[in-house]
Amino acid sequence: MKVVLQNLTKTFPNRSRKGQKEVIAVDHFDFEIPDGKLIGLLGPSGCGKSTTLNLLCGLLKPTSGKIFFGEEDVTDLPAEKRGVGVVFQNYALYPHLTVKQNILFPLENLKGARKLTKARMLERANEAARLVQIDDLMERKPSELSGGQQQRVAIARALVKMPRVLLLDEPLSNLDARLRLQTREEIRRIQKETKITTIFVTHDQEEAMSISDRIVVMKQGVIQQIGRPQEVYDDPVNLFVAKFLGTPPINIFEGKIKDRKLCIGEEAILDIGDLSDQEVFVGIRPEGFVLCENGPLRCSLNGVEVMGRDISVVSTHSASVNPTIRSIISAENKVDLSSPTVRFALKPGKVFIFHKETEERIRFFAEK
Ligand code: ADP
Ligand code: MG
Repeated sequence: MKVVLQNLTKTFPNRSRKGQKEVIAVDHFDFEIPDGKLIGLLGPSGCGKSTTLNLLCGLLKPTSGKIFFGEEDVTDLPAEKRGVGVVFQNYALYPHLTVKQNILFPLENLKGARKLTKARMLERANEAARLVQIDDLMERKPSELSGGQQQRVAIARALVKMPRVLLLDEPLSNLDARLRLQTREEIRRIQKETKITTIFVTHDQEEAMSISDRIVVMKQGVIQQIGRPQEVYDDPVNLFVAKFLGTPPINIFEGKIKDRKLCIGEEAILDIGDLSDQEVFVGIRPEGFVLCENGPLRCSLNGVEVMGRDISVVSTHSASVNPTIRSIISAENKVDLSSPTVRFALKPGKVFIFHKETEERIRFFAEK
């Protein structure tokens, strides 16, 4: 089922701060989710992710704009008629019911033509349980399950009605690191098997990048960029997006463009095309550094961290915005730890320039 958000806006009255009229939680969203895809809705806490999800499932009414499922305008359709399955961060299972009863619950509430026979309900519940691999836990109570198992029950409960759209709001946040990794792969597998159009909300860029067909990066209710995870990482539209994606994060420097050269501090690090002289921010991805004896970027060496296949060189520079610079280089390189400085050449494709005030990307073409 294709999902379309059309000029969607949601404002809340502001009760706390004086002077400000309202909070714009979702600001003129326009995007289309193709049928059968998994979309990662990504942004820091408070950027409007849950509000967007609640608009999609019908818990909230938009201030303006429309929502379509396929060709159907569902903007005014009540939640229970939308055919959405929702999973929240806190699993919200009924504690006094068994796993099986929890999964059956949404089916028992179906009315009229959609009502199922008891046998058909059981069949559907078992199918959903098999899909999330909890079919051997059906007689247990939620308190007898681990967090990961509880979250699987919640997913089964969302799937049992065969929803047109699956909405997941930070579903992995309550799980420990290992389980989080495992469960996110499970979610991806289930989504691929069922081909249900899915919107996955998270503040964790790595999580979103790893399982999404497309990511939507949000900031303060405004969409910043939409694209395949790798595309957005390789080609961020602004400083916010560049900083939000990537571990270790991108290294930011104060810089300037002068006489067709990009400078960090007083050092010219790249010959770039014809851009007007100005102050800029320079972002360099950790993998954009090349250890080079006479490289143009000279940093003070703090040390190295061994990470197995790669090493992380930790250094500082007076023009660096972050306290330290992290560069990831292959472990085959030898770093002279007795030297107070380390010098780098840079891969032009890993260097981004941003406007000093607007923080929008300034594109350039590196010259040989
Ligand atoms: P996220 O899920 O990305 O953390 P939310 O969608 O929950 O963000 O919130 C977006 C913004 O809207 C925040 O500033 C939040 O304080 C505000 N907000 C959310 N729900 C309400 C509400 N019911 N009343 C007032 N403000 C709200
Ligand atoms: Mg939220």
